[in-house]
Amino acid sequence: MSACTLNQHLIERAVEFHGHWCPGLAIGLRAGEYALNHLGRAADEEIVAVVETDMCGVDAIQVLTGCTFGKGNLLFRDHGKMAFSFYRRSDGQGVRLVFDRARLDQAGDDFAELNQKWLRNELDPDGEARLMEMRQERTRWIMTAPLEEVFTAKTPDFAMPRPARILTSLTCDQCGESVMESRTRRLEGRTLCIACFEARDKWL
Ligand SMILES: [Zn+2]
Ligand SMILES: [Zn+2]
Repeated sequence: MSACTLNQHLIERAVEFHGHWCPGLAIGLRAGEYALNHLGRAADEEIVAVVETDMCGVDAIQVLTGCTFGKGNLLFRDHGKMAFSFYRRSDGQGVRLVFDRARLDQAGDDFAELNQKWLRNELDPDGEARLMEMRQERTRWIMTAPLEEVFTAKTPDFAMPRPARILTSLTCDQCGESVMESRTRRLEGRTLCIACFEARDKWL
């Protein structure tokens, strides 16, 4: 497998959905491409994605694979890793794609350092121009490198998530709002929503 095989129309839809073109979106596009090639697209929750970051790339994955928060077949584990797992329910096939940031910093230039300065607002216009140029180079690399160079493909380390279930609602005894049963807490015989449970010091 070589350069990106996604058609331009799909890429444009992802850019439109996300709002801008950036290296993170490119990483998500390539991860989505891998999922499409190996597992297919989610029709009615057939494919489930588990993402370990909530940054740019996840938008591309939603557009490409059809795994979305609203459908319940996109799950977020807040691990701060550029790691994307995909599962196919019909046969339990799955893959976990890990993007290694070091691949962007490797070239022996000052990309990492410029990024740090940029985040601290310490870059002069020259440095900023150089950083933007480097970002474009990296994005080009992400979009044209063979997928097996962009990601390390591993066996998923989570069990395949179960289908979204419709759960019963209860009423919070403190605020009176409806809340999914699985998200309630019990306190001294009362049923509470998480918000009221966490604020209990204020009203107890
Ligand atoms: Zn972005
Ligand atoms: Zn409540």
